[in-house]
Amino acid sequence: MSKASEFSGGEIEAGRQLFRGDWTFLSAAGSIESLPKMFGIEIAFAGRSNVGKSSLVNALTGRKTLVRVSHTPGRTQELVFFTGDPVLRLVDMPGYGYAAAPKQKVEAWTDLIHAYLRGRANLMRVYVLIDARHGLKNTDEPALDVLGEAAVSHQIVLTKADQVKPAELEARIAEIETQLAKRPAAFPQVLATSSRTGQGVPELRAAIARLKAERGSQVHW
Ligand code: GDP
Repeated sequence: MSKASEFSGGEIEAGRQLFRGDWTFLSAAGSIESLPKMFGIEIAFAGRSNVGKSSLVNALTGRKTLVRVSHTPGRTQELVFFTGDPVLRLVDMPGYGYAAAPKQKVEAWTDLIHAYLRGRANLMRVYVLIDARHGLKNTDEPALDVLGEAAVSHQIVLTKADQVKPAELEARIAEIETQLAKRPAAFPQVLATSSRTGQGVPELRAAIARLKAERGSQVHW
């Protein structure tokens, strides 16, 4: 498990600094042609619809309505880009596993995601959000498969950690870490967060700041 102690005070502070700026909506892309030009480095967020992705991106950036304001109806199948740092961009990927999604829409999502993941050299990591109450579900498997096939570094982040008891959280993390062993592109450790209580949010910011420090020199301009 990624415990808070795995990040130094300096790294937690670097995370705080990275996200204290004014994060704003940059653009939204519903097709590969409309993706913004590669710039700097990107960190993306994926997850089942309703997993708490909008809430977590808002919590990270300290902007209560950042995602909601940019997600106008009909835009949910788009990749949404946010800027707030000279080097780093955040990308909100469309939610998957929404039972009511028509097949055609699901395919369009898959085509867009495949193309984005394969062609995006500046995409440093995808955080795959999983509800702490539920753990990995069948609906998460295709997304993890796509990430693995594209060899994109990805890490599981549990959401809504406030909804489970500490012992259950520990057990869920251990269970997922075991399930990840067969996925080489998956970061072996799991982060637990709650947008409601703020648990794990400084650590996730620190993890992103660490990635930026390690990989920021590989920027694409
Ligand atoms: P998205 O569809 O993945 O963007 O999910 P949202 O951020 O819109 O959240 C879906 C639902 O989960 C909303 O009712 C949120 O209030 C709730 N939610 C999000 N984050 C948390 C959390 O950390 N704790 C709890 N208890 N509920 C949350």
